[in-house]
Amino acid sequence: MLEITKQLREFFNSDATLSYAWRKKQLTALIRMLNEERDAFEDALYNDLGKNAKEAWLTEIGFVIHEAKYVRRHLRFWMHSHCRLTPLFCFPSWSSMTPQPRGISLIISPWNYPVQLTLSPLVASIAAGNVAIIKPSEFATATSALLTKLLPKYLDPKSVAIVEGGADKTQALLHEPIDFVFFTGSTATAKHIARSAADALIPYVLELGGKSPTLIFDVKNLNAVADRIAFAKFTNAGQTCVAPDYVLIEQDLLEPFCEALKAAIARQFPDKNSMGHIINQRHFDRITQMLGHGETVVTGGNTIPEEWRIEPTVVKINDPDHPLMKEEIFGPILPILSLNTNDPKSEAREIIKKNPTPLACYVFCDNKKDARWIHDHVLSGNFVHNDALMHVTNVHIPFGGIGMSGQGASHGYAGFQAFSHIKGSMWNTNAFDINLRYPPYSFRVFKLMEWLLG
Ligand code: NAD
Repeated sequence: MLEITKQLREFFNSDATLSYAWRKKQLTALIRMLNEERDAFEDALYNDLGKNAKEAWLTEIGFVIHEAKYVRRHLRFWMHSHCRLTPLFCFPSWSSMTPQPRGISLIISPWNYPVQLTLSPLVASIAAGNVAIIKPSEFATATSALLTKLLPKYLDPKSVAIVEGGADKTQALLHEPIDFVFFTGSTATAKHIARSAADALIPYVLELGGKSPTLIFDVKNLNAVADRIAFAKFTNAGQTCVAPDYVLIEQDLLEPFCEALKAAIARQFPDKNSMGHIINQRHFDRITQMLGHGETVVTGGNTIPEEWRIEPTVVKINDPDHPLMKEEIFGPILPILSLNTNDPKSEAREIIKKNPTPLACYVFCDNKKDARWIHDHVLSGNFVHNDALMHVTNVHIPFGGIGMSGQGASHGYAGFQAFSHIKGSMWNTNAFDINLRYPPYSFRVFKLMEWLLG
């Protein structure tokens, strides 16, 4: 066992994390850290991903502050035992459900939102009363180094440990006696994580990626649609797990939508500094190699290879088997495919079904019935009507995937539940006993039991 695991276990066993006061104090310290060290976080995010300061605050620093404040406000209520009904045949027992900490949680995070996707799970872990080992991504080096420096300074240092490094470090941690894994990253890596966790029966939540479709039918205000899609797609240079991955659009709307999208991109991302860069050479090569397979460029397409920059790029494609439709793009390229049959909803569903179940599905249409049809007939982790991405900011609904896009959920109360063991309990009294349940059973007692149970 590593020394950090031993120390975390000792601290957890001291029961210090059980109290509301301790948890509240840690959440307050985390919020204070993000406010006091805002400049340092903005610098780190600029170094790692070229994010400008406003984007860094909105999508990472402010995002976590908002979530931590929400969790802190509701925590006392969430921590309570809640009474549950008890069957009559268990009289005079009563029942309760109580969230309890799991113990040591391991939080493994990716590079694309290195502050948000490390600290948002940490908020849930603290709220649920756990101690945590954090394994940030080795590709967001500046943020990883900053978290390593700051977290033990602000939080109770006995309750949190950070391990920097790559896959080998993560695999070693999965062989430690830990109690829960919260993994955010790719589906391919998740399979390694799940295999290692299964060996020790460690429960886990997997927040993964995938191709999130964006459907457009029968809509009048195409300018609003274009603005929402441009924002959701090109924020963080498309390196967002729930970015619209591709657009499926009713044929008649294709051309006007392309024009509206071009204008929206020009408004929101007027120069190279208004959008971040790709994380590294490997991803730059992976993304750019998806282009040049017969698509028509609507806007963008230029690159600055030495800065790993790709212009916001929109392309029209005719072939549902184009390379852009095969794997998660995870970069600033948006392919648009038109739907040509007279049943575009069913046609869209067949195209979506060619890929694993998506993390999110977005539908833009004026007719609520059409939106409801997609909601009910297309499987996806989350669903949004007439918007994209914004569900991530909503702490009142669970965020998570299904199938290859993830297992389990996070954010707000869902995050608190994920990091808790919900203990179902029954409480009885020894003051008296009702002996009906003990054999042998008389005819009348057995009839009574049949009535109560049947
Ligand atoms: P990744 O899977 O390569 O890495 C994630 C983490 O796993 C890193 O900390 C890395 O060090 C570790 N890791 C990598 N290989 C490992 C192995 N073999 N064994 C153990 N650990 C290993 O993911 P990434 O490239 O950092 O992030 C991009 C992916 O994450 C995209 O697919 C994206 O959709 C997904 N993502 C999902 C969400 C979500 O909330 N659902 C959010 C952001 C990103």
